[in-house]
Amino acid sequence: MEDLIIAIVAAVVVVGGGGATLLVRSRRKAPPPPGHAPRRGRAAGTATAARPGGATETAEPGAAGPGTLLPPEPEIEAPPAPPVPAVEKPPPSAGRLVRLRSRLARSQSALGGVLLGLLSSDRLDEQTWEEIEDTLITADMGVAPARQIVDDLRTEVKVAGTRDTQSVRLLLRAELLAQVGPDMDRSLHTGRHGDRPAVVLVVGVNGTGKTTTVAKLARALIGDGQSVLLGAADTFRAAAADQLQTWGNRVGAAVVRSDREGADPASVAFDAVNQGIERGVDVVIVDTAGRLHTKAGLMDELGKIKRVISRHATVDEVLLVLDATTGQNGLRQARVFAEVVDVTGVALTKLDGTAKGGIVVAVQRELGVPVKLVGLGEGPDDLAPFEPGVFVDAIIGG
Ligand code: GDP
Repeated sequence: MEDLIIAIVAAVVVVGGGGATLLVRSRRKAPPPPGHAPRRGRAAGTATAARPGGATETAEPGAAGPGTLLPPEPEIEAPPAPPVPAVEKPPPSAGRLVRLRSRLARSQSALGGVLLGLLSSDRLDEQTWEEIEDTLITADMGVAPARQIVDDLRTEVKVAGTRDTQSVRLLLRAELLAQVGPDMDRSLHTGRHGDRPAVVLVVGVNGTGKTTTVAKLARALIGDGQSVLLGAADTFRAAAADQLQTWGNRVGAAVVRSDREGADPASVAFDAVNQGIERGVDVVIVDTAGRLHTKAGLMDELGKIKRVISRHATVDEVLLVLDATTGQNGLRQARVFAEVVDVTGVALTKLDGTAKGGIVVAVQRELGVPVKLVGLGEGPDDLAPFEPGVFVDAIIGG
């Protein structure tokens, strides 16, 4: 009988010990509740004794008193803290178009190749001049600029009296450059006004790359040494605010957003500018919703955003984001936006995906404002200040 009791007690100890191990394992796996700091080194049941003076002393795990049947409890490892994303230091924006030139060349050199081929062909007759004009129009340059280029080239070829490859290339370069407008002021006005930040309002139809451009622009400005705050006033798509948040976290730009989908975009813009003032940032960039529902609706929405911002700050730039691949349709959109808000510059996206670079000329003529930025890919640093010379060289392979 005594043997039987000893055997039962031994069995209880073995089963109890195994259970404790499983418990500890499962505790190890379970993540701590949110906001609960993980405890290290003390399993449940570890003895804590009060010491005179209020300090506490923790007995070594496993130092249970005599006569206890509980096995020593192993130390619980705290789960590793989630990695804190490192804030990146983006590269400055200067010289970006040169770095991204291969993307332009890939999409634009076909245009230059055709033009140079036609200009140096054996017979430069009426039909060839017409083909040159058609090529320019097909590249979305617009009829009037295409005619102008052809007229000028006809005269210059006559005057030069030669059509060797190099002289034709130089003539074409000069003509294209004149149409792109080498002397337009393409600077972005992002300087602070005393204790107020500069404000950049970004408008455009959804899908053109507006939110991506806001994020890329924030990176570029931060790379240039400015501090930036983003306002997610595209409140019709929660995804837009999330997208901005993700990009903002990476470069250390705070994002002001509403947690309510469909919230008043003007009030988000207002909050963003106020926070920008409070935090002393250099630039506040406000992303807006680009629904082309009705012109009146768009006018109301953008007008209200501008008005509320103007109570506390100056809107320095209204950047219209335009998708270069959308041609005439894009130009129509541009026209509507220009009628409802004073656009100060164009950000032409997806120029890496089209050979129709003539849209640069067409949109500038249409709106009377310069292309200031070009998007050349989906990567975070694929936005560049527009440089006419680099652009034209990419077309004609200079
Ligand atoms: P939004 O609706 O106007 O805010 O557009 P998004 O910023 O969400 O962009 C729409 C899509 O266009 C995304 O897949 C972007 O990655 C893409 N995109 C934006 N800019 C460019 C660009 O310059 N080149 C290319 N290839 N894709 C771009």
